[in-house]
Amino acid sequence: MKIGIPRALLYPIFYPMWETFFKELGHSIVNSTRTNKRILDSGAKACVEDACLPVKIMHGHVIDLIDRCDAVFIPRLISISQEEYICPKFIGIPEMIKNSVKPCPSLIVLDYNAKKSTNMAYKGYYKLASDLGSSKKDIKQALERALGQQRAYERALLGGSNPLLALEGLETFSIRKEIKGTIGLIGHPYLIYDRYISMDVYKKLISHDYRVIVPENIRPEAIEKACSIYPKKLFWSYGKHLLGSGLYMLEQGLVDGLVLVTSFACGIDSFVLELLQRKNNRDYKKPLTIITIDEHSGHAGFDTRLEAFIDMMEWRKENGNNISSHGKGLYIS
Ligand code: SF4
Repeated sequence: MKIGIPRALLYPIFYPMWETFFKELGHSIVNSTRTNKRILDSGAKACVEDACLPVKIMHGHVIDLIDRCDAVFIPRLISISQEEYICPKFIGIPEMIKNSVKPCPSLIVLDYNAKKSTNMAYKGYYKLASDLGSSKKDIKQALERALGQQRAYERALLGGSNPLLALEGLETFSIRKEIKGTIGLIGHPYLIYDRYISMDVYKKLISHDYRVIVPENIRPEAIEKACSIYPKKLFWSYGKHLLGSGLYMLEQGLVDGLVLVTSFACGIDSFVLELLQRKNNRDYKKPLTIITIDEHSGHAGFDTRLEAFIDMMEWRKENGNNISSHGKGLYIS
């Protein structure tokens, strides 16, 4: 069977797992085209108006796969970690697509729920593959190989790589001159690793000769520890991931500044990024900017914001102690 995989939502994080699993079971894979204006416009047109941008883009990727495969793979990610949940939009995505994409292609839905345990979540893979006619033995073997690939990929991310390097190739992003500093780029994977939607923010930062670190480079234990300063456990996996990685970068002095990328109408980001910004304002005072993107965002305004941020960061580095702020320099050294 030819299975279409949309390059949207958590594709940059889980594609080694999904692709290996299906290939091991003898299926062929076709990926949707990388996000472009046609995909964005078709998704925005098909999807309900008040959905967030990444959900609209997911619709566009499904439309792109119509007539290019036998069925489109849609993961319904309910929970990806024990005792945590993921944004509810991920739960309803198959139904949203069925109702909004006309004509709707055949869908293969993976129900993945790790709230109780990861082993329970793997049952979703067994169910999906046995519906496609695979034997239990073959599914077990495919799942083991897919997990092996996924773990190797996650180790590479923790070692300093990122999904863009893995997906696009290292040479595209090599730093030309001496590194001026390090910037933390914080945002959901479907924003910061989608070159069209993020307006190539990663590459733009690199081209200003900065090293960029991303949430996927930070170990889960460090994220957990960084978030333990809050009295209540954060139960949105990606909210915790973004907040904890940003806090860790600040706390450890790993970055000269933070760029937070969010999409308009994201409920989770509205409080998570606020918490990060407050903590930074109170304790670290690092240059920080929040860039909100939607389907109308334009490159010109985006580039100006980014350049202004980099200028501000460099000027503060150079002159921060010369500015009198309530009688004190900005940096105590
Ligand atoms: S977390 Fe935010 S951006 Fe992501 S799917 Fe949910 S609402 Fe959309």
